[in-house]
Amino acid sequence: MTDYQSLGIRPLINAYATVTKFGGSLMPPEVVSAMTAAAAGFVDLADLQRRVGERIAQLTHNEAAYVTSGAAAGIQLAAAAAVMYKHPEALKRFPDIAAFKDEAIIFRGQRNPYDYSIQAVGLKYVEIAGSRSDLEAAISERTACIFWFHGALVSDDDLPLAELIAIAKARDIPVIVDAAAQLPPVENLWRFTEMGAALALFSGGKDLRGPQSTGLMLGRRDLIDSIRPISNPNHGLGRPFKVGKEEMMGILAAVERYLQLDHDARAQYCEDAVTLFCEALNPLPGVCAEREFPNEAGQPLPWCRVTIDPCILGKSADEIVQAFLAHEPGIAVSPLNERQFHLNPMTLNPGEELIVRDACLKLLT
Ligand SMILES: *Cc1c(COP(=O)(O)O)cnc(C)c1O
Repeated sequence: MTDYQSLGIRPLINAYATVTKFGGSLMPPEVVSAMTAAAAGFVDLADLQRRVGERIAQLTHNEAAYVTSGAAAGIQLAAAAAVMYKHPEALKRFPDIAAFKDEAIIFRGQRNPYDYSIQAVGLKYVEIAGSRSDLEAAISERTACIFWFHGALVSDDDLPLAELIAIAKARDIPVIVDAAAQLPPVENLWRFTEMGAALALFSGGKDLRGPQSTGLMLGRRDLIDSIRPISNPNHGLGRPFKVGKEEMMGILAAVERYLQLDHDARAQYCEDAVTLFCEALNPLPGVCAEREFPNEAGQPLPWCRVTIDPCILGKSADEIVQAFLAHEPGIAVSPLNERQFHLNPMTLNPGEELIVRDACLKLLT
């Protein structure tokens, strides 16, 4: 049997988040069956990408949709689209695009490791502090697009997204929203594009629970169509970001499932798990557990912040995080600092909250 065990790899319980380094999320049976069914037959891949895109666009109230190999690849393809929809001749030029609009405006406080994908296309960053006048001063003849990284990195000093979009629209500049981890709420699948963002990018392998190597690009048809010639199965910048037929059908099944999911029941499960953790942990000396809302990426789900007194417990939070991983079964929790970590119920399978609680009782005494 080809499985983790045969390699000496121990599966973990994920009380961390939909983080890629621990496998993101788990594919539900309907996603796995769609992939298995897709594995049984050959298809014209470009046709499949179009049909899957049409279906996902319809389901998510978007003009068009495209399956990428993740949100990071989506950022790169979206950056390419911002050049190509006006200059199809950029096709064989990336990343040497000085002949075209070659600047991407980005908010300084929103800089993050994923923005490397923009630069990889050949776009130069124009960093702005965040106000309306900063934005207006940064826009020039060379501006290809404006990036917005939605979530914890957005600061109160940043111009609101709606205003940013209005300014950009008046100058015909596409706004691209990285919303990789902005699910739930499910409405975010159409919220940003309904606000007027040209494209919104999502991870398929986070809360959507599609295949890990998928993502969604949702929004304007002219931008999405512009990258087809450079994207798998065609050749060019996007060819390395290959999405197979199985992944395309898997992410479609994941979107269909997510739209029908009882999100209230899911949120209630998270509430109950946080209550369970708080009630079990707070009586322990040197331990304080609290409900926090929203969670790290700003998703409207609670998680549990645990603060410890290292003097009383005789160990730091970092050591406890390691002890959870070494525990049997291994548990990934979300580290914060020397005194704090989080228990995140969003990636737990029902029943696992009890295992996590019992591990806490063992490791936090
Ligand atoms: C996870 C994440 C990404 C990358 O998504 P992948 O689907 O793993 O490529 C990009 N941006 C943000 C803000 C993320 O949280």
